[in-house]
Amino acid sequence: MKKLALHWKIIIGMVLGLFLGLSLSYAGLAQFSSDWIKPFGTIFIRLLKLIAVPLVLISLVNGVSSMTDLSKLSKMGGRAVGIYLTTTIIAVSIGLVLVNLFQPGAGFSNELRETFLTKFADTASSKTQMALAVQQRSPLQPLLDMVPGNIFNAMSSNSNMLQVIFFAILFSIALVAIPSEHGKAVKNLFNSLDKVILKMVDLIMLFAPYGVFALITSLITDFTGDDPSKASQLLIALGFYSLVVVMGLTIMITVVYPTILKVFAKVNFSTFIRGIFPAQMMAFSTSSSAAALPVTMKQVEEELGVSEETTSFVLPLGATINMDGTCLYQGVAAVFIAQVFGIDLTLGEQLSIVITATLASIGAAAVPGAGIIMLIIVLEQVGLPSEGIALILAPDRILDMFRTVVNVTGDASVAILVDRSVGNKPKIEETAE
Ligand code: ASP
Repeated sequence: MKKLALHWKIIIGMVLGLFLGLSLSYAGLAQFSSDWIKPFGTIFIRLLKLIAVPLVLISLVNGVSSMTDLSKLSKMGGRAVGIYLTTTIIAVSIGLVLVNLFQPGAGFSNELRETFLTKFADTASSKTQMALAVQQRSPLQPLLDMVPGNIFNAMSSNSNMLQVIFFAILFSIALVAIPSEHGKAVKNLFNSLDKVILKMVDLIMLFAPYGVFALITSLITDFTGDDPSKASQLLIALGFYSLVVVMGLTIMITVVYPTILKVFAKVNFSTFIRGIFPAQMMAFSTSSSAAALPVTMKQVEEELGVSEETTSFVLPLGATINMDGTCLYQGVAAVFIAQVFGIDLTLGEQLSIVITATLASIGAAAVPGAGIIMLIIVLEQVGLPSEGIALILAPDRILDMFRTVVNVTGDASVAILVDRSVGNKPKIEETAE
């Protein structure tokens, strides 16, 4: 049992969580789960978040300050952003093709539509308020948001990852610029701290199977409550829509990433999946790219052989701005809502979904449920009724798990491509085979 690989232990935790969650719901013990099991899941998420900011700061300083050629950094940044944008546009286009092809919203009856709109009206309007707050920001706000006024404020919240990246890069550039006899001690310190932080990630991961078990159990009991049949009715009504989203996400994982990895980095996809799997499981059970980030970074560097300079820069950036799964989902959801309301979207409107969903996914925070809030902005941009999100709220928590897996897989794939494009060779490249 002790020898069992970590990802197997995590899978076992997940399956047991699924069974226990369902059993507790059927036994009417949802409250027990939220009192006694959920806290362990929350502790696990806290541990992951706890390590994220120091990990990003320390490994980025360690990676960048070891670069001899700093122009590599801007090359890496430019390429990462370019490839991130490309994969995101591919993702939303796949979503749009599928939703137009299968038309999951076409058969939705008016009665069902009204039931959903009334049932979820309150949640929908509270989410719309949040979206409004985002919309009222000035156009240059994203740029402003990148520059922290106080580094401790920036580090005090995981949603300020870009500010931490900004500080770390400025710090590293200064470190490289000062004479080496002064910089040496600081570099050595960061090098040692990096080892300590990675060991902390290892230690936290020992708790992963239990954390995942608690997360899945409580997700199920929170979702189904004491009456699982009601929840399954909701899901069945939206089954076709959910299926289209999951189909698109599956295409990303089984076709798009394998193809780009094979063609541009000569990386065998099964090796890639074996390496990234634990991070995918973290993404699935926490529904947060930010919470999964420590594991993604560890796996990409240690198992997929990507250099530390690339891992430490490209992955935190990706967790913040690259959300292929979220973007794909937003495309499907927007058109689905239009179909249910009987609104025909022109080609121009669909193209504007591509653009707005790409921007909305960049702006979405790497936390659970961020995608649906940004979806409201997409709907408003294209002139679709924003209360329509009431239609898709029921399965959103579940779809969030799947789309976060794609978000994280996309980040890792791009890290490999960027590493390769700046002249490093990922250790999993198929040279020996
Ligand atoms: N949960 C997603 C993430 O963290 C964002 C979203 O689509 O809600 O990557």
